[in-house]
Amino acid sequence: MKSKTIAAVATPNAPGGIGIIRISGDEALEIAGKVFEPVSGENLSRSKGYRAYFGSVRQGDEKIDQAVCLIYRAPHSYTGENVAEINCHGGLFVTKQVLRAVIEAGAEPAAPGEFTKRAFLNGKMDLAGSESVMSLISASGKKAAAAALNTLEGNLSGKIKECRDKLISVSASLAVWVDYPDEDIEETGSEEIMNCFTAVKAELEQIISRYDSGKALTRGVDTVIAGKPNVGKSTVMNMLSGYQRSIVTDVAGTTRDVVEEEVLVGDIILRIADTAGIRETDNTVEKIGVDLAEKRLDRADLVIAVFDGNLPVTDEDRAVIERCKGKTAIALINKSDLPAVIDKAPIEEGFDTVVEISAATGEGRQAFEQALEKVLMTDEFDPYGACLTGERQRECCRRALQFIDEGIAALKGGVTLDAVNVCADCAIDSLFELTGEKASAAVVDEIFSKFCVGK
Ligand code: GDP
Repeated sequence: MKSKTIAAVATPNAPGGIGIIRISGDEALEIAGKVFEPVSGENLSRSKGYRAYFGSVRQGDEKIDQAVCLIYRAPHSYTGENVAEINCHGGLFVTKQVLRAVIEAGAEPAAPGEFTKRAFLNGKMDLAGSESVMSLISASGKKAAAAALNTLEGNLSGKIKECRDKLISVSASLAVWVDYPDEDIEETGSEEIMNCFTAVKAELEQIISRYDSGKALTRGVDTVIAGKPNVGKSTVMNMLSGYQRSIVTDVAGTTRDVVEEEVLVGDIILRIADTAGIRETDNTVEKIGVDLAEKRLDRADLVIAVFDGNLPVTDEDRAVIERCKGKTAIALINKSDLPAVIDKAPIEEGFDTVVEISAATGEGRQAFEQALEKVLMTDEFDPYGACLTGERQRECCRRALQFIDEGIAALKGGVTLDAVNVCADCAIDSLFELTGEKASAAVVDEIFSKFCVGK
């Protein structure tokens, strides 16, 4: 059956040096040939792959741009299909006009992620690799980009396949036992099975812990700035984002609602809620802000607790220290440019990490960045190890791990080996789901629907 030919602008929707219109499908070269005229006069539909042609783009009789057209022949292309890419001038109007000409010539507009979905369906990459494409596009730092590229190049899939193959060989020998229970493999086999389970368990645990420590770099950290009024929370937020965002005043309780901002501190993405101070209040409007702050604090991955270094510790400060117990948190003793009045002892007792800064002058910002890396363990993150690229993959890994744990418990408990075999098979299925061989069509559709058009 012929695949329908799709087209989309693959470059951002903004003026730029070059705009790329990507066409993929059985008719891609014929359609490109209808709108693009090489100066050489060659017929694009008969072109070999890996060729570039200079020429002009036409919409009907009208010449609309000069361009270069790249030709890839199936299966040697991103999607695995015939692909033509028209590289025209990157004006917003020009790229849209070229796309319109391509669609008039017979292509259909591509859905979000449809090119990568075709690459997946044509076996050019697995599901884990496909997901890393979006992670690579949206990476905001060096380590996040390195991790995504590493997954795209198959490091994660290779490790998952190793784990799967180990489990498959165990499952195969168990299946023999289930079919021929008189063969005595219990004595000789169960130690081998236990070794396999333990090795796969260690590998999966390491992969999950790497994902957790890299999450701050790849997915961002929900952060709350907490502290009593006037300690400098809004000023801290402004320091981090590099520009004025919240209203900064001398009147206690000015910042009443939650202001959200995403900032990049070093390589770490912080999604910061600058909340009203956590305090007792009778003012109804302010109380709403305080309640909101309490809820955000409960859910936050990280709390930045701010104290005024120029004032003694108060009961309100003690309440903040108490609220942060058991949470991943950094204490900032702010206003280091003013004389130090604060007694640091209760703060140092309540927090493992305490940094002195002046949010107003930016002094101590570097120490804060280092503390952040340490607290979020991103300094331990190895982007070149096998990296998961999202919660779906983490869930598949976690499920596989759970089945292996059940298998280990069954083995230890002396449960019959067919029960152990079920655990191994379920773990294998979870790993197949991770790389896509056993992902349902609905899961696949959901993944690609989150992609941008043109990718
Ligand atoms: P919030 O109520 O905790 O959000 O506090 P603000 O950020 O509104 O700051 C309260 C007051 O403290 C303002 O007058 C700020 O200019 C001042 N302030 C904040 N940070 C510093 C600092 O590092 N040094 C000094 N000297 N003043 C600061």
